[in-house]
Amino acid sequence: MILVTGGAGYIGSHYVLHERERGSSVVVLDNLVYGHREALLGTRLIEGDIRDRKLVEQVLKDFNVDTVVHFAAYAYVGESVTDPSKYYQNNVASTLNLLDAMRAAGVGKFVFSSSCATYGDPEYVPMDEAHPQNPINPYGETKFMCERILQAYDAAYSMRFVSLRYFNAAGADPGGRIGESHNPETHLLPLILQAARGKRDSVSIFGTDYGTPDGTCIRDYIHISDLAQAHSLAIDHLRRDGKSRFYNLGTETGHSVREVINLCSKVSGKPIPVVEAPRRSGDPPRLVASAARAKAELGWAPRFTDLEETIRTAWNWEQKRTY
Ligand code: NAD
Ligand code: UDP
Repeated sequence: MILVTGGAGYIGSHYVLHERERGSSVVVLDNLVYGHREALLGTRLIEGDIRDRKLVEQVLKDFNVDTVVHFAAYAYVGESVTDPSKYYQNNVASTLNLLDAMRAAGVGKFVFSSSCATYGDPEYVPMDEAHPQNPINPYGETKFMCERILQAYDAAYSMRFVSLRYFNAAGADPGGRIGESHNPETHLLPLILQAARGKRDSVSIFGTDYGTPDGTCIRDYIHISDLAQAHSLAIDHLRRDGKSRFYNLGTETGHSVREVINLCSKVSGKPIPVVEAPRRSGDPPRLVASAARAKAELGWAPRFTDLEETIRTAWNWEQKRTY
């Protein structure tokens, strides 16, 4: 049995669907602070907090869990700067609690949602896993601290982990059953598509004076189904007694904010009103992954290599979203 923390959130719910479709048994632990019951499509939900040690131990025992996939965290970079306590508590202290509950219950396999935010400002692109890690905000710091904790727990307690450093998660279930729903929404793609639908007056471009070809930031948008698949491959790796590893997950291709807006306009067939706004602090100009390690070692092969296709899945969801 696989325990998925934060499984009612955006990335977690897509992973849960994928994992169930390949026949695995999954139970979700989510406090629904940001998650959606509807996103689970009937998967068993324990509504509770991962900071509740007794509850976590009980769930691990009751469901005979052998592997934990840990998505639960707060992920608003700006808020992590203004309220770091909230982030260190919920992302670091809660992860320690979870890992110690796992030790107590004898559960030794862990898949972790890490982030390209652990790298900080890029020294080179594409960024591989050997790129120096100097996070530039408390959110990135919390993910980096968790990675350090995982290494220490592996060395001391033989707890094996795979830490997946996602670049920009994007898109929705190609079948249109579930999709991205953050409240508040801060991610570029859903904001643009909501503007295309007329639900927002416009979308702001944060910075037009970067040293990139069109002056706007470049990011690597990886489809949510490809992220989901990587988690399943990570579990297979751990179940083969594979060693603890860190993997980047990205398409290895970058797109600027203006390119994303133009593609969204093409896919939706709607004009998208834009407002040129100042830079958002803490945004590096260009983040693009090298995912060579995940491809070579996990056999990961992302299917959505064309951003237009990724946007099409998000647009499909945006038009008929139910939560
Ligand atoms: P999300 O907010 O949609 O999902 C997080 C889920 O965790 C929510 O359902 C929330 O209710 C739950 N949760 C939070 N704290 C909890 C707690 N203490 N106990 C129980 N449940 C709790 O976020 P997401 O975009 O799906 O991100 C999932 C993970 O991936 C996070 O760890 C995030 O830091 C990481 N990540 C996301 C991206 C991205 O592009 N979205 C990129 C890199 C890393
Ligand atoms: N962005 C933007 N306008 C918005 C939201 C985001 O121009 O309303 C830019 C942001 O500066 C970044 C890119 O879009 O360069 C992706 O931002 P997002 O918040 O989606 O993801 P992040 O890269 O911060 O994880």
